[in-house]
Amino acid sequence: MAERFLVGAGVGSGVAHGKAFVVARPEAALAQISKPGNRIGLIAIQRAMVSVAEDLENVTTVGEAKDVMMALAMILRDPVLFDVVKAHLSEGAEAADAIRRAFARFARQLESLGGYFAERASDLGYLANRVVAELAGDLPPIEFPSEPFILVSDSISPMDAAKLDPNRVLGVITSDGTPTSHSAIIVRAAKLPMVVGLIGSGLIRTGADLLVDASSGQVFLDPTAERIEHYANAANLDTKVIRLLDDDREPPVTLLANLGSSFEAAGALAAGAKGVGLFRTELLYLGQQDPPSLEEQFVEYSSVLAAFSGKPVLVRVLDLDFDKPLPFLREAGSGKYANRGLQVLLANPEVLEVQLAALAKAQNANPKTDLWVMAPMVLSVVEAQEFAKLARAAGLRKVGVMIEVPEVTAAGVIEGILESVDFLSIGTNDLTHYALGKSRHTAGDGAVSGTISLSETRKPEVLDLIRRVISAGKLAGKPVGICGESASDPESAKIFIQLGVDSLSASSALLPQLKASLLA
Ligand code: PEP
Ligand code: MG
Repeated sequence: MAERFLVGAGVGSGVAHGKAFVVARPEAALAQISKPGNRIGLIAIQRAMVSVAEDLENVTTVGEAKDVMMALAMILRDPVLFDVVKAHLSEGAEAADAIRRAFARFARQLESLGGYFAERASDLGYLANRVVAELAGDLPPIEFPSEPFILVSDSISPMDAAKLDPNRVLGVITSDGTPTSHSAIIVRAAKLPMVVGLIGSGLIRTGADLLVDASSGQVFLDPTAERIEHYANAANLDTKVIRLLDDDREPPVTLLANLGSSFEAAGALAAGAKGVGLFRTELLYLGQQDPPSLEEQFVEYSSVLAAFSGKPVLVRVLDLDFDKPLPFLREAGSGKYANRGLQVLLANPEVLEVQLAALAKAQNANPKTDLWVMAPMVLSVVEAQEFAKLARAAGLRKVGVMIEVPEVTAAGVIEGILESVDFLSIGTNDLTHYALGKSRHTAGDGAVSGTISLSETRKPEVLDLIRRVISAGKLAGKPVGICGESASDPESAKIFIQLGVDSLSASSALLPQLKASLLA
């Protein structure tokens, strides 16, 4: 099985490696047990609501998780909520429908309050499902594997999250949800690695081998032996390495963190990151019918910029991938790079312009942070020029592009690109694939056509391209960083440093080990 690289928003920190256990959609399970046309009495509904509330109150947990349980129980015991259910029933609604509509109305009210309350709104859906399940005689019991496993689900309710047994559950992955949901708070408190909003989670089957890196929101499906060893080495930091974290000595290049969401910022700082080398923005867009609003984006960019005050933060504008299709984007390009990278954004200027405006607003609101904005997978000098023009017109001060395809490293092309931008970042994940003639994905089922290992970036044909890009950057007096996975590989990192790279960016989970090996 070829390794597959998936990204979501990491919650907390930590790395888990184990077999996947995929739990079916709760709604699908509910559909199986729902009884259309079955009118259930008011008393039964009230009993179900109280029973779920009691269930929550009796969950044996402490601290933040306990507060969450109590808050949810209080909602269920709220007489106003029950009155709304009653009103829907008297209008002729079926029990399940009446419950869902009443809870949805309550959720909308919370949403309109914004902030903390809006985050809590998503829990109302779980609560409604739970009450309906209780009424229908509860969900069929799930047979969990006897061996420890990584739980994979569309979502997880706060109550189920509170009941996770850390001796059996190694980590949690959801395709929906946000890092600030109640469930995420609970899983984090249990110190379980979690990635929410995972793009492409549908590719994961029960029994599949998974490596979950919560510090960067990265998940490796069927990881290579080399990847597993790489993470195991990083996890086996001895006290000498830990001491190096507090060491004033700095490696010869700046070590930055790759982030999938602002929620990972604290962990990155704790791991010693001197800034962010790649902030992936895809999560804001995924699963949406419309692009996120300027304000919504501003909040996310601003929180990451605020966390890294005084430091550089490289944000990458939306990088479409074929397995992350977005209904509001027109397709662009043809051949092996079709529908990837900057060309898609240039074909959808209204989407790009809002993102650039949100970034500019965040830049202005956080003047102490050094925001660098870059475009993914540039394919030509003209594309780089167009992006730089739009980004500067939006008011962005540092504008760059990612070098991810061999063609743009050619003499004449890379110099042309450097003329219009302030910096370059080399994406070795894509560059290695394309340099070795492997497409990162095949069309259709999302399988990778050929896997690459960390060491393949060290092959001469790939290193030649990297060398060319770094030398051109040096000649132009513009910084060049590396933010692909190979940046975290100590052997590759040392070569990149010899070639003159200015920064290396990697998952926070791997930074301490990288720093230690560069100082050794
Ligand atoms: C890369 O290709 O190296 C990279 C960092 O981008 P992504 O993995 O998000 O495609
Ligand atoms: Mg890439």
